[in-house]
This record gives sequence, structure tokens and C-alpha cells, in this order.
Amino acid sequence: MSATDKSDALAANVAQAARLMERFRSAPLGHFIDGHRERGRSEELFEDLSPVDGSVLCEVVCGSPADVDAAAGAARKAFAAWRKVPGKERRALLHRVADLIEARSAEIALIECLDTGQALRFMSKAAERGAENFRFFADRAPEAADGLALPAAEHLNYTVREPLGPVAVITPWNTPFMLSTWKIAPALAAGCTVVHKPAEWSPLTAMLLAEILTEAGVPPGVVNLVNGIGERTGRALTEHPDIRATAFIGESATGSLVMSQGAATLKRVHLELGGKNPVIVFADADLDRALDAVVFMIYSLNGERCTSSSRLLVERSIHDRFVARIAERVARIKVGHPLDPATEIGPLVHARHLDKVLSYIAVAREEGAQVRCGGRRVAGLAGHFVEPTLLTGARPQMRIAQEEIFGPVLTVLPFDDEAHALKLANEVRYGLTAYIWTESSGRALRMAHGVEAGMVWVNSENNRHLPTPFGGVKASGIGRDGGDYSFDFYMETKNICLAHGTHRVPKLGV
Ligand code: NAD
Repeated sequence: MSATDKSDALAANVAQAARLMERFRSAPLGHFIDGHRERGRSEELFEDLSPVDGSVLCEVVCGSPADVDAAAGAARKAFAAWRKVPGKERRALLHRVADLIEARSAEIALIECLDTGQALRFMSKAAERGAENFRFFADRAPEAADGLALPAAEHLNYTVREPLGPVAVITPWNTPFMLSTWKIAPALAAGCTVVHKPAEWSPLTAMLLAEILTEAGVPPGVVNLVNGIGERTGRALTEHPDIRATAFIGESATGSLVMSQGAATLKRVHLELGGKNPVIVFADADLDRALDAVVFMIYSLNGERCTSSSRLLVERSIHDRFVARIAERVARIKVGHPLDPATEIGPLVHARHLDKVLSYIAVAREEGAQVRCGGRRVAGLAGHFVEPTLLTGARPQMRIAQEEIFGPVLTVLPFDDEAHALKLANEVRYGLTAYIWTESSGRALRMAHGVEAGMVWVNSENNRHLPTPFGGVKASGIGRDGGDYSFDFYMETKNICLAHGTHRVPKLGV
């Protein structure tokens, strides 16, 4: 594509997105409860702001406890019938949802970009991924209730799985559409009903999903949506007695609040939280492939990605050469408007998040690390644009090597040998993913088993296969999603024991 074609494409995308946004400007964005949109019971509004220029995209109603109560009540009422819908019917319905997501994928992508600042090159796949999530769990719906036969000498034990009931799904602002499908699809396949609370910084595509579900024929009350601020609306949801479990994606600190808020009602929780994931590059690795993966896994999706490889641990003997190659790439990464097809990094989601990311770069300087590339706001752009940043000369205990920055910022630490690499990898509070690059299979295995992480990729970037378990250890979370693991969360296992009629029943009072 020539430069003119690209700017034409940007202009066309901006015009198309503006048309799609009109519907969100006419009235404050409310909730979706019991099958229809509603303004809700609260007068409190907040603004959803554009990452591109800080302008108001739309006003959003902050759901009150009464709105949460209405949504939870609708989910409770709908559960009685939804749990009995045969798996095959649920399968057909969820495939229809996937079809409609695909049909509206361009609209979903454009709105997601405007709302989050994520680049179109990545968000154009968000709807596809969302549809895939629905298809995957749709196909498993007919077997979701299956259990085990556990025969004893004079009894037959067998297990069945039953849907838990109404569940809360609370999602963050990075890739919100894809993440909401990742939770809602298995919940529906299992036979649960849902109350979804999307993040206040990116609420728009959740409403599109609610519309799609309804259009596909998902009955009223099966999926409800309440917009609002986490500490109020989210909190009310996690405390609601009708809600049996909370599936949460967000920061570790919020995760522990979600746990304690749900304690009084004994809620099951599933927490997908933050990360400070190491990518460990040994001198014997295929360095060309490792370079591609390292750059991709921190600078794609604006670095606002829980699985980003935000710490590069690189063997000392290749440190200087490898870092120089990364620096060359980083200098060429295109930062720009999220709707420009050429853009690789868009603006960060919110001014507060931009401040947070910039504050870490200031901390890096104060702590004595070097800002090898980037490190500033992008000159000449009004929105929340930050340069892709490479931090070298870091020490393991520095905050930039310990804390989740959640932006396009890579911290580099050299290591001497396998034991040193493992020590560095594990001495953080998080444990979501780890990436290991080496051509030695023995070393790959030793490292993979030693590293404290829920998911390890060897000689690969994050490459998802939906049947595999997704989740973290330590401060990165509790529980697993994916395949049957999702059903373990959204369902209860019941044991049923039948006697052959031959065993001796204990007698009292004879
Ligand atoms: P956040 O914790 O601030 O908010 C997440 C959601 O929780 C939002 O909807 C928010 O409104 C709600 N919330 C806030 N306080 C609440 C409370 N007291 N009770 C109930 N709900 C509350 O997270 P964020 O800033 O939106 O998202 C970024 C974080 O998400 C990062 O830490 C990132 O690593 C993490 N994340 C993790 C995964 C994963 O799979 N492990 C995936 C994506 C993002």
C-alpha cells in the first residue's frame, strides 16, 4: 500500500467509525437487562473518553445497586429455564452468536479501536477470536454435563455436572470484546446465566455483544449487562446474594478485593490477574525468531496485554548484540492513529494510564536504568501516545523489573547461566506466563519445569489453543480457563450413588 492509499484508508476508517459512533452519542449508554436496553435507576453519569484526543466518546450511566439487583434478578429468573435447554440447542444458539459476531466484525473492530486505542491491525482479529470462543464452547455444550462412572463393590457411583447458576463476569479495558466472549461463551455453554460488568474505560463493545446475543435468540435475562464504576457497580455485583460466582479479569489488587467482597456470600472466584512475564533468551537460541517474538510480545496491543513479555532475560554473552537488534526494531515501530492500517502502536487507553506508564519511565531513570529507546510522549500527537520504550541496565529489584507497567515498555536483565535465569524469572510476585528460547531440549524442559508460571511457551510467542488451560499462579490469579477447565468453574460436580441392593445396611434399635 502506498502512503496515499494508507491515508485514504485511515480517512475512510475514521469516517466509518464516526458513523458507527453516532448511536452512542444520542443518549447516555445504559444497561441491558432482561432482554432490552434500559437507562437504569441511577442519575449518575461518567464519560467514556477517546484515547486518540481525549474527547468525549459518550456518556455512560453508572449502575446503582438497584440496577445490579434488577440484572441479578433477571439472571436468576432466566436460569431456571436456561439450565434445562438441551446441550444440542445451546450448541446451535451459540454458533448463531458466532455467525453474527463475524457478520459485525468490522463494526466491532472499529469501535473497539476507538474505545481502547488498540491498533486496527490487531483488533480486526478481535471479533474473529470472539467468534472462535463461541464456536469452541458451543461444540462442547452437549457434553458439558458429562461425568465419570466410579463403581464400587456394591454401589455404582457416577458424577454429573450441573450449571452453577447466575454468574458475574467482570472484564478489563484491554481487548474487552475478546475477553468478554472468553468468559461468557463457556458460562452459557455450561447452562449458567450471566451479569456482565465491562470496564468503565471501554464499555462500548459489550453493548454490541448483548445485542448480538439477543438477535441470535439467547432468551431475555440469560445475559445481562450493567455498566458502571468498579468500586460501586462491580462491588455491588460481587456482593449480590443471587450471584454464585465471579469470573474476573483485571489487576491483582482488584482481584483480592473481589475475593473479599464475595466472601460473605461464599462466592466461587476465578481470577485472571496481572503479570510481569519473563522471556528468557539463551545464547544457543534461534535469535532471529526470538527477536521477532520478543518485540511482538511486548509492543503488540500497546503492551496492554496480561501475557506481554515485559522482562527480557538475556544471556550475558549475547546481551549487547541482541539488545542492539531490538533497539533497531523499536526505533522503526509505527505509532499512530488506531484506525490507520499501518499503525503498530496506538494511544494508551486513558490519560491516567498514560501517566502511570510515564511515571515508570521516570522511576527507571531515578533508579539508574538507561532509557535506550523511547521514553517520552509522542511529540505532535494530542492523545495518550507514548513511544515504545526499551530500558537497559536494570537490576532485578528495581520497580521496573518487579511491577506490571502494562504499556509498551521492555525491561532488560542479563543472566549468566540457567540457575541465574531461573532465579531472576521467579523472584517477582507474579506468575502468569514465561517464554523460553533455546535450541537445547533438555534445558528447555529444565527451565519450563522450574519457572513459576501458569503457562510456558518454548520457542514461541503466546500461541493460544483453546482446549489448553489458561491462567496464572502467585499474584497472577486463581483458576484456569479453556477447554474443560472452564466447565470446572461454571459447573458443580454432583455424585450420585446407587446401591446394588446387596450391601449390609447398619441396623439400630433392633
Ligand atoms: P482493574 O482491576 O482496574 O479493573 C478490571 C475490572 O474490575 C473493571 O471492570 C473494573 O470496573 C472492575 N472493578 C474495579 N474495582 C472493583 C471492585 N472493587 N469490585 C468489583 N469490580 C471492580 O483492571 P484494568 O485496569 O481494567 O485491567 C488491566 C489489568 O487486567 C492488568 O493488571 C492486566 O494484567 C489484567 N489482565 C489480566 C488478564 C489475564 O488473563 N490474566 C487478561 C487481561 C488483563
